Amino acid sequence: MGDHMSDDAIRLRAVSRRYGTGGAAVTALDEVSLAFPRGTFTAVMGPSGSGKSTLLQCAAGLDRPTSGSVTLGGTELTGLGEAALTRLRRERVGFVFQAFNLLSALTAEQNVALPLRLAGRRPKKSEVREALQRVGLGDRVRHRPAQLSGGQQQRVALARALITRPEVLFGDEPTGALDSKTGRDVLGLLRGMADRDGRTVVMVTHDPVAAAWADRVVLLVDGRVDGELTGAGAADIAAYMTRLEAAPC
Ligand code: ADP
Repeated sequence: MGDHMSDDAIRLRAVSRRYGTGGAAVTALDEVSLAFPRGTFTAVMGPSGSGKSTLLQCAAGLDRPTSGSVTLGGTELTGLGEAALTRLRRERVGFVFQAFNLLSALTAEQNVALPLRLAGRRPKKSEVREALQRVGLGDRVRHRPAQLSGGQQQRVALARALITRPEVLFGDEPTGALDSKTGRDVLGLLRGMADRDGRTVVMVTHDPVAAAWADRVVLLVDGRVDGELTGAGAADIAAYMTRLEAAPC
């Protein structure tokens, strides 16, 4: 029982990540403790170099903390070997990046089917089509990335991230390369993944307008949690960021 029955999809306890040693050592994360409740959408913000990417990578099992513990759906990641960690990443988490990262030689449906193939499964055409329909691309299944707009490519990337039905979806600036209208479409889909599908969404962003779609904004400064905003609008988030950037180091 214990953690497995918890309502938190991810929990970080006193997570630190240091790079290098001696005088050149950098503390990217400094004893960060955070919980991400199931079915919620969290935005992670903070100045450049504040530890946002490192936090995402440690939470997703892409990087290992120097100390502290990370649990995902009750599984303690720090105790897992490489093979188990790879399987967990494949089966239980999804990723979307600023740069879409689609394979240009493959069609939309082949891109979406890829995670299932990597997991050794033979994808059913119906489940791949369903995932593309879910992101509004049911009529673009045979298109290659170059034949799609940026917003459409990011929606293919979302369908690819969702095909394994992950518990947690991580986004690293998923709207960073999109104009505001197509960015809104993608944010609306992320919002729906939390509200309609009960997935847990964690997104790094610089954009207060994007962050306002989240239930909660976590603000990092120098590898520590500086504060949190719940249900805040873009203006309040922007004001917080301005205060942070004005504060002396
Ligand atoms: P953010 O995503 O907020 O810009 P990062 O998590 O990328 O911040 O980086 C946090 C700190 O850790 C920065 O000082 C950065 O230079 C340092 N850092 C990140 N990755 C590495 C690495 N592989 N080697 C050394 N230092 C790193």
